[in-house]
Amino acid sequence: MLNIVLFGPPGSGKGTQAEKLIRKYGLIHMSTGDILREAISKKTPLGVRAKEYLDKGELVPDEDVVNMVIKKLDAEKDPNGFIFDGFPRTCGQARVLRNLLTDRNTRINVMIALEVQEEELINRLLKRGRESGRSDDQLSVIKNRIAVYERDTYPVIDFYQKMRKYRSVNGVGTVDEIFQRIVEVIDQMK
Ligand code: AMP
Repeated sequence: MLNIVLFGPPGSGKGTQAEKLIRKYGLIHMSTGDILREAISKKTPLGVRAKEYLDKGELVPDEDVVNMVIKKLDAEKDPNGFIFDGFPRTCGQARVLRNLLTDRNTRINVMIALEVQEEELINRLLKRGRESGRSDDQLSVIKNRIAVYERDTYPVIDFYQKMRKYRSVNGVGTVDEIFQRIVEVIDQMK
């Protein structure tokens, strides 16, 4: 199995690159943000609980997120692997993911972190907000999401660096340029 953590701040292009990677490598897209937005639109009990966190740009509690991940991991029969996009977002989630994968006789091969400066992130997210109407893409919420990233999520790099699985990729350029950089990293370690 090829399991990749695609990491980076909000607006770094994880979702866009994940879509291309799943096609190239035949992987399953594990986007906790997408699962949460679907639950919110269906008004499931999880969706109702999660909405207030998303609206403020706060993290949904680990327990809910981990349960979603377990459900999707176990729903797939004989997968080639997963792209984790937006998960893990805390060191606690990273430890749980390691244990979940160990229990399933697999592991994370690499963590790819997309590097983009804050000003560029804000511009990209404001543009996405205008185009898609995504409710958490407005300036005050964007700023909180970036602050939460720096406080709770950025330290996850250390977890993967200690295991020599962390690779940093320049996330500025065209979609195809960035994709090529990521593919190079994956193909080097395969
Ligand atoms: P995303 O689409 O990955 O930017 O996620 C959108 C929002 O969903 C985040 O701002 C959080 O409120 C919530 N969320 C997504 N993934 C996670 C996660 N792994 N842990 C906690 N909250 C999450």
